[in-house]
Amino acid sequence: MATKKLTLSFDNGPDPECTPMVLDLLKERNIKTTFFVCGKGNSLHPALEAGSTEGLRLLDRIIDEGHWVGNHSLSHSVELGTTNNKLLIEQEIGGNEEIIKEYNQHKLFRPYMAGGIISPKIFSQEAVDFLCLNKYTLVLFNVLPKDWENPQTWHLEALEQMENYDWSDIIIHDVSLYNSMPKLEEFLNEVEKREIEIVQDFPPDCMPIVKGNIVGPIDGIVGSGKEDPHPFTKLGVAFINEEKESILERFSMSEDEFNELRKSGLQLRKEVFGL
Ligand SMILES: [Zn+2]
Repeated sequence: MATKKLTLSFDNGPDPECTPMVLDLLKERNIKTTFFVCGKGNSLHPALEAGSTEGLRLLDRIIDEGHWVGNHSLSHSVELGTTNNKLLIEQEIGGNEEIIKEYNQHKLFRPYMAGGIISPKIFSQEAVDFLCLNKYTLVLFNVLPKDWENPQTWHLEALEQMENYDWSDIIIHDVSLYNSMPKLEEFLNEVEKREIEIVQDFPPDCMPIVKGNIVGPIDGIVGSGKEDPHPFTKLGVAFINEEKESILERFSMSEDEFNELRKSGLQLRKEVFGL
């Protein structure tokens, strides 16, 4: 039987605390991966702006250590299937590329997918046209353990999902707020134990557009441009049971409401929906 393969990718960074920790671990094990980064922070996207001085320093390190950088949209808040506004599309994809182009050597693009859901809300035809015209390679995934929801157990979920594929392409997040990367080492140990080979390139069936050419099915990810956004794109709050570190309940609310609630002394943490 041929060896099973795994491609790792880290989305939503760079993050001043989490990215260096992940890089240290990858270096120790001589693993090469890809970091899909966003150029601009916002309230939904807490990581560092890739274009900031510290962000660029992290991108330098990512490249120096043999990893790849990919484009994960400028603001990480616009589902491209909800718009056919060419200027907005250009800003979200091209605007981010302006910031990271020296780093994005393979011109990789991974769209913002609210909740990690593959649907026609991911792209409009105009967004696909932009990718093709500008010769991007679209990188999707086949394993999504939702590490932001299950920071303690995502690695087990990932291993289970990986059983379905000879070549897994996983999305996890180098973002401190999600607090999932402390489990990365345990995950890598288990991958090693199962003799799964970690590779840097992506499985062909996760790349429906290669260098601007449509080479795979994209019907399921292209909508009218007028799709309603997913309802997850909100700032959220999770009430935490500190002892068990389990999440008791989730609500979405505004930043002001969150700050008000925090004054009450409840154990809670800010969460981000729509990853
Ligand atoms: Zn993301």
